[in-house]
Amino acid sequence: MGYNREDFVRIKAEYSEKYRRAREKADERRFELYGRIPEVKDIDSVLSGTGLEIMRIISSGKKDTEAAVEALKARNEELLARRGALLVANGYSADYSDVKYECEKCGDTGYVGTKMCECMKKALVLAGYESSGLGGLIRTQSFENFSLEYYRGGGASYENMEMFVGALKRFASDFDANTYRNYLLLGSTGLGKTHLSTAVAKKVIERGYDVLYVSAVGMIGDFEARRFGTGAGDGSVRGTERYYEADLLIIDDLGTEVVNQFTVSCLYDVINSRINNRKCTFINTNLSRKEIEDKYTERITSRLFGEYYPLPFAGTDIRRQKRMK
Ligand SMILES: [Zn+2]
Repeated sequence: MGYNREDFVRIKAEYSEKYRRAREKADERRFELYGRIPEVKDIDSVLSGTGLEIMRIISSGKKDTEAAVEALKARNEELLARRGALLVANGYSADYSDVKYECEKCGDTGYVGTKMCECMKKALVLAGYESSGLGGLIRTQSFENFSLEYYRGGGASYENMEMFVGALKRFASDFDANTYRNYLLLGSTGLGKTHLSTAVAKKVIERGYDVLYVSAVGMIGDFEARRFGTGAGDGSVRGTERYYEADLLIIDDLGTEVVNQFTVSCLYDVINSRINNRKCTFINTNLSRKEIEDKYTERITSRLFGEYYPLPFAGTDIRRQKRMK
């Protein structure tokens, strides 16, 4: 699993805190009981001595240890029944002072044995949605609500789109640590590039991987802030490490950023490093292949068209589509 590292560290800390608080609250309830029903305190003190008593029985070397342990067990059961009855008689539930974990499966540790509990996986997915940079898109755009109907009547575009959606769905639902494939989503605005890449992001996050979704402008902004210290001035400058480390990076709207030597070298570095490290990247752009070639260096263009699967999204603007081929 490649959960976002910061999310993972934060959630682990939240779990320790949750676990600690659950036990603390149970202690508070127990002391409340001791104040109101002194006999409960006596019972608890007898019960808590059980371990010692068993040790004493065993080390005494007598023959009937088994019977003695059995008798102890029976006594404890009686005490527990008495304790429960006392609580109920005083208007409490019998389990009033038991530790109440949010998740009974893992006792708020996040793990069942060595396996991560479902509750922690869920928390990491929710955190992954947050740290992906997708914001509200994640709630509105998924494979489930992507309609192909929009592409009917556009000649070959329906069949193409059907194929693209199928490929992206398979990519997302099979995504694992060995997945390596890059996509270049081409086509004008309003043809579903953002919708489909969000749907992919959502699915990959749900599978437990770190996804970063960013506009080309936002990404370049982060690199500039890093290089020139031109952050928003609110201390919100993000590191640029995740552009290299995320399991899946989606760069939206390539071509809307200012293109100069610095931005081109940042872009090349991210694209190239990710290819070398076999990390998946999606790039969405309104630019045609020709426009990409004109705007970026030969190095970038050859990396993009050599290592990415181009998916030319098409709708009504057929002429534009022809130009792209
Ligand atoms: Zn759990």
